[in-house]
Amino acid sequence: MSTIAFIGLGNMGLGMASNLAKAGHDVRALDINADALAKAVAAGCVQADNAKDAVASADIVVTMLPAGKHVELVYADVMKHASEGSLFIDCSTIDVDTARKVISEAESAGFEMIDAPVSGGVAGATAGTLTFMCGGADAAFARAKPVLDIMGKNVFHAGGAGNGQVAKIANNMLLGIHMIGTCEAFNLAEKLGLDAQTFYDISSTASGQNWSMTNYCPAPGPVESAPSNRGYQPGFAAAMMLKDLRLAQDAAQSARAVTPLGAQAMALYGLMEASGDDSLDFSGIMKLIDGTL
Ligand code: NAD
Repeated sequence: MSTIAFIGLGNMGLGMASNLAKAGHDVRALDINADALAKAVAAGCVQADNAKDAVASADIVVTMLPAGKHVELVYADVMKHASEGSLFIDCSTIDVDTARKVISEAESAGFEMIDAPVSGGVAGATAGTLTFMCGGADAAFARAKPVLDIMGKNVFHAGGAGNGQVAKIANNMLLGIHMIGTCEAFNLAEKLGLDAQTFYDISSTASGQNWSMTNYCPAPGPVESAPSNRGYQPGFAAAMMLKDLRLAQDAAQSARAVTPLGAQAMALYGLMEASGDDSLDFSGIMKLIDGTL
């Protein structure tokens, strides 16, 4: 069993750290939020009071932080105090450039590090069924995999440093785009006199079929478990989708990749944010399309 420093015990980190503790690891938890820390301690982690306390005797450091600036700040501190040969695993969703920069700094300082953003949400974090998309050297990935297997069900190695973030934002850009397309199709059908269930029965077995339709159907009715059947309560919040779409657009700009539909999806989710409705599930963009927002 390893000693694992876990930094960032928010909505996602709490379940992930709990699963590591449940599996018998000695988990040293650190968060600037006292409530988050207290929950982690109640779930079997040991409280750390600062970065040195958390990482000094750890073999592995896992982080689950809001954005790139937090990751840079935390790792600047971690690298000062981590013991020789430690492995760093950043599971936060952050911009590709920062992920690559921090990994390169860690490697220069003699540490192994991967980026390992996730999909699967809070439910997946709690159940230990997350999907991890990892970027980094083969040896670092091989060392991280047994730990990731405790927190997740599918663990992919997407290539070199930052490629986990690339997979995550490219996938979520596609998700945002086909969710909006699905809303437009259901709205068009309904306005022309075709009810949602009939359209679903046809399109879900025809060429319009997609994940947003069959798992998160934005029209109430056809998919019982979808957020549209409970007032668009998340699920995966529109605010989170907007964060990922912004990361995708920033990355597209720096790579000179043409992503006009990604840009349009970002603008539409931006309208949900502007109207204060971004805490709804991302399928709630249906309300913008059908004029009920
Ligand atoms: P969160 O805001 O609930 O948790 C982040 C935690 O980091 C907070 O407890 C905060 O206090 C802590 N933190 C911030 N700065 C810190 C510092 N300097 N030192 C120590 N702790 C610090 O966010 P979350 O929902 O858990 O998401 C975490 C990451 O996972 C984000 O990058 C998010 O995009 C990604 N993600 C979230 C979901 C989801 O459904 N919530 C799904 C997939 C990916």
